[in-house]
Amino acid sequence: MGRNTDLIQHPYQPPAEFEAPQPGVYKASTVFFPNVAAMRQRDWKNKSGYTYGLHGTPTTFLLEERLCTLEGGLHAVLVPSGLAAIAQANLALLQAGDHVLIPANAYGPGKVLAQGELNRFGITHSFYDPLSLPSLEQAITPATRMVWLEAPGSVTMEFPDLPALVRLAQSRGLITALDNTWGAGLAFNPFDLVPGTAQTPLSVDVSVHALTKYPSGGGDVLMGSVMTRRDDLAQALKLSHMRLGLGVAGNDAEAILRALPSIAMRYDRQDQTARAMVQALHDHPLVRQVLHPAWPDSPGHAHWRSLCAPGSMPETAWQQGRAAGLFSLILDPSLSSAEVDAFCDGLKLHRLGYSWGGPMSLVVPYAWGALRTQRPAHLHDGHLVRFSTGLEDAQDLIDDLRSGLDALRRP
Ligand SMILES: *Cc1c(COP(=O)(O)O)cnc(C)c1O
Repeated sequence: MGRNTDLIQHPYQPPAEFEAPQPGVYKASTVFFPNVAAMRQRDWKNKSGYTYGLHGTPTTFLLEERLCTLEGGLHAVLVPSGLAAIAQANLALLQAGDHVLIPANAYGPGKVLAQGELNRFGITHSFYDPLSLPSLEQAITPATRMVWLEAPGSVTMEFPDLPALVRLAQSRGLITALDNTWGAGLAFNPFDLVPGTAQTPLSVDVSVHALTKYPSGGGDVLMGSVMTRRDDLAQALKLSHMRLGLGVAGNDAEAILRALPSIAMRYDRQDQTARAMVQALHDHPLVRQVLHPAWPDSPGHAHWRSLCAPGSMPETAWQQGRAAGLFSLILDPSLSSAEVDAFCDGLKLHRLGYSWGGPMSLVVPYAWGALRTQRPAHLHDGHLVRFSTGLEDAQDLIDDLRSGLDALRRP
């Protein structure tokens, strides 16, 4: 044999009896078959075999299984971003002529996707007020096929009555799809929303998760998952995933697998830090409103309490349950936009940047026009600034915001 042939066809065997904390990482586009019969027989859809890198590797199958353990699903597909997960669920489960409902406070790029691609493919959409059951009820048309849910809504953080919305949607035969990025499988169980109350758990049909956020935890990986317990939906998701040519890189899957064991610890730490910040700053004279679902006056707080801190008393709920390390403040309307921009620019520890769940604290000022067609009455007039807490020491983050706010206060 020539040297190149020997080099490529070397008699490598993977190590046996090498059990270790982290699983081995497998990367492949091509997967070999021992013979043509095996090539024709193998089926990737039920994970009984490997056929091609895009259809799954031991590493991606393992990550799918661990995510199912985290969120309580049975089947999952991995896609290159959280937004791709929203797109994948829409494209797999809807068709031309269908209508889809989206909460008015949903993750912005998901709305833009509906206005762009879904619209072009003949799938119509409308928005409903997630704090109002009648709003959802009135928005359902004979063409409605799926309802998106998000708890809480991105940026404005209103927490909906998720069990009630799911019951209503299911009573109309609609598919329920939850963006579960905030809950991350930790704050509540999307596939068992009211534990122990019924023989068949009250469950969303589909959960999408931006793994970019807490599962990665590093601010350095983009990935998303789409998960379900329903075999029929799993089949549709997997076939569409294959036809669209979606897949994720082995190194990225490895990064998520490496970070998953610490997800609950990071989530709880960022939760505690965010609550300490809210507690310290809510009565600052320039703060008009605190938007954090565990904060008693935040819109939908009672819904958060019953889902994420069940059994807690209203007086003590603030110290209980789970919430992501995210909150928004509405700052005094007498400030100018330039002053609010200067406040954000001037923060030392909060970097300007999108996303959350990583080690560094972030800040983004939002313009109302980018969030809603109209500011709802439950949100105060003023400038909305969204904070995502990192893993820094809480007191340093509090000092950073306080000195920024104090600098804004007029003499
Ligand atoms: C970040 C985010 C997404 C999108 O995730 P990417 O990986 O950034 O595309 C979707 N939904 C929510 C709620 C998010 O916060």
